[in-house]
Amino acid sequence: MKKIIIAIDGLSSCGKSTMARQLANQIGYIYIDTGAMYRAVTLYSLENNLIVDGKIDEEGLKKALPSLVIEFKINEETSLPETYLNGVNVEKKIRSMHVSKYVSPIAVLGFVREAMVNQQQAMGKKKGLVMDGRDIGTTVFPDAELKVFVQASAEVRAKRRFDELKAKQGEADYNEILANVVQRDDIDMNRAISPLRPAEDALILDNSELTIDEQNQWLIDKYKEVISA
Ligand code: C5P
Repeated sequence: MKKIIIAIDGLSSCGKSTMARQLANQIGYIYIDTGAMYRAVTLYSLENNLIVDGKIDEEGLKKALPSLVIEFKINEETSLPETYLNGVNVEKKIRSMHVSKYVSPIAVLGFVREAMVNQQQAMGKKKGLVMDGRDIGTTVFPDAELKVFVQASAEVRAKRRFDELKAKQGEADYNEILANVVQRDDIDMNRAISPLRPAEDALILDNSELTIDEQNQWLIDKYKEVISA
């Protein structure tokens, strides 16, 4: 069967990763969470004094960036991909509110985007890939055979993220999460390089009212349509 590239973009915490991961599992494709890559760069910056008092040391980050190795490895127990930074599993750390707070300002930087996009494009050379992010259909793979743009109301998204963080970390603050989701969307949509927006040929999915099963079914149906065309 022919292999394609599936680009899933959308707003923060709209369930992109869940649907992208599920589809990749079902059809035997590789799944790449590009948000995790920007989060790993942010974690590195926070842990190496490259963000001090909220200010990013751009020159320092530019120097350090080529030495960062970001990889994904499957956790044998959960069968889920986890993020590694320079050989260390950082999956839990990169999901913290602290990282969420600084990730969009880091993702604005042109040299960071260039390095990440180069790595992402290299991963897609053999196709058979589901990639989620903000600029996959517009910048990373403008020729992707299937492009989806996912959206939902800010309140619905904040509630989902709240439930997820609470389950994983035991505590979470809904209002803080809502403010973060709104702020990240604002920075992501208004940045100069690769702003968050649907590609012209993207299918738009508003999943505010959909269950996870319903959204997964919607996506697999779209995949089947493309593959059989
Ligand atoms: O997907 P996730 O919410 O984990 O992404 C974290 C942040 O990384 C986003 O808010 C955005 O600022 C940035 N990002 C990006 N381009 C991507 C993926 C994520 O700018 N392709």
